[in-house]
Amino acid sequence: MTTEIRVRIAPSPTGYLHVGTARTALFNYLYAQGHNGKFILRIEDTDLERSQEVYTKNIFESLKALGLQWDEGPDVGGEYGPYAQSERLPIYREWAEKLVGTGHAYYCYHTQAELDAEREQAQAEKRAYIYSGSCRDAAFREALAQKPADDGSQRRPSLRFHIPQDRGALTFNDLVRGEVSFDMALIGDFVIMKSDGTPSYNFAVVVDDMLMKISHVIRGEDHISNTPRQVVVYEALNATPPRFAHVGMILAPDRTKLSKRHGAVAVSDYIKQGYLPEAFCNFIALLGWSPPDGEEIGTLEHFAKQFELERITHSPAIFEKDKLNFINGKLIRTMPLERLLSVAKPYLHEFDLNQYSAEKLHMMLDAVREPITVLDELPDAVNYFFGQKVILDAQLVGEVLTGAEPAQVLERFRDGFLANADFNASETLALALKEFTNSLKPIKTKTIMWSIRAAVTGRTHGADLSKTLYILGKDVVCQRVETALALTTGSPA
Ligand code: GLU
Repeated sequence: MTTEIRVRIAPSPTGYLHVGTARTALFNYLYAQGHNGKFILRIEDTDLERSQEVYTKNIFESLKALGLQWDEGPDVGGEYGPYAQSERLPIYREWAEKLVGTGHAYYCYHTQAELDAEREQAQAEKRAYIYSGSCRDAAFREALAQKPADDGSQRRPSLRFHIPQDRGALTFNDLVRGEVSFDMALIGDFVIMKSDGTPSYNFAVVVDDMLMKISHVIRGEDHISNTPRQVVVYEALNATPPRFAHVGMILAPDRTKLSKRHGAVAVSDYIKQGYLPEAFCNFIALLGWSPPDGEEIGTLEHFAKQFELERITHSPAIFEKDKLNFINGKLIRTMPLERLLSVAKPYLHEFDLNQYSAEKLHMMLDAVREPITVLDELPDAVNYFFGQKVILDAQLVGEVLTGAEPAQVLERFRDGFLANADFNASETLALALKEFTNSLKPIKTKTIMWSIRAAVTGRTHGADLSKTLYILGKDVVCQRVETALALTTGSPA
């Protein structure tokens, strides 16, 4: 019998969706998509102090923007809900009670201060700290329960998982890392229910993954040391653990953990900066995985068809911004213009786009997109298409528009070219511009082009000139040429 593939992403809403979590989500999503499985979103919000609604919202929005739609989750529901841990507290209590009943868990009446003292003692003796396990003993536990805490209050117990002293090594077969072993003697009896009645991560995650019938847990390597704790809980609950796949971490180019110090770490910040969600997704897909067909730029559908956990590497992946820029630039250059216009609009809010037809806006974006890497470079790339005037700064005037030749070019351009040119199509303008250039010989083509471009756009580089003229339209071009002519100091021949 083959079991259904059910995978999940289980973010804690204690921050904006992090690049690393997005990568984990993507790997889970691709695995589900490629194997006819289900991708589940579970919000791990039991840390009530640190969890915030604004982060949950950001997680939803960022995952959606990346195209990682879940099949089951807090908003869409599903057979195994609720999908927010804060709504599952009675479920954890019920399963915790079962473990007490079977002798796998016991109440611990030590206060935090007492535990801290035990830890300090261990440190002073240079021993690794593990909980002493004294509350395993019923008589000790009951006596301690009666003793008031330091502040005189009644002790509130936590619940600990009892790791049998003779448990020895725990081994599991990780789908990325192969056989992994932990010496359970080094892992103390850990808390499964805190004294405030909320479950610990290691317990809640097992109860949820078990009840939600998760088949594969694909997550960051930083969780690997939690896995033995989780496996023993599965054993105690007589449940089969899921398959585990621990993915190598994402590091910054300096090979330290990727953090704010290296720049943005939230997916939404990258999107704000003008990275296309599909480019960002493509980039993070390559952080620890590579498509067997070697085609590094592709859609999620294309990647999903080839995605196997065996191809994930356990070595760390380096977050190379240049590669992200490369992918983003490439997608900007090749994406359909309609889509480019729709993703560009939020970046161009300062301009009145309505003054142009969709055809002209498409042509404008097409004409400027070549050197663009991120969308927030667009306003600067298109700003000379807006407003009546362009700024002709002194340096430009001095370098390009001064002297007899530029003045002559612009005069002839005004009187010979603009007076007759047909501005109804950019192709006819291109031909006319060519003829015009020939007619001005021996003045060099470069001088002619520079002078006109400088006069019309205020720059020496930019979009194709005939397209620029066509988009701007005759009236604006005439006005700008007049303004530039007034600035040229040479006298026409
Ligand atoms: N809430 C955990 C995290 O955000 C989930 C870890 C897991 O996938 O088990 O890291």
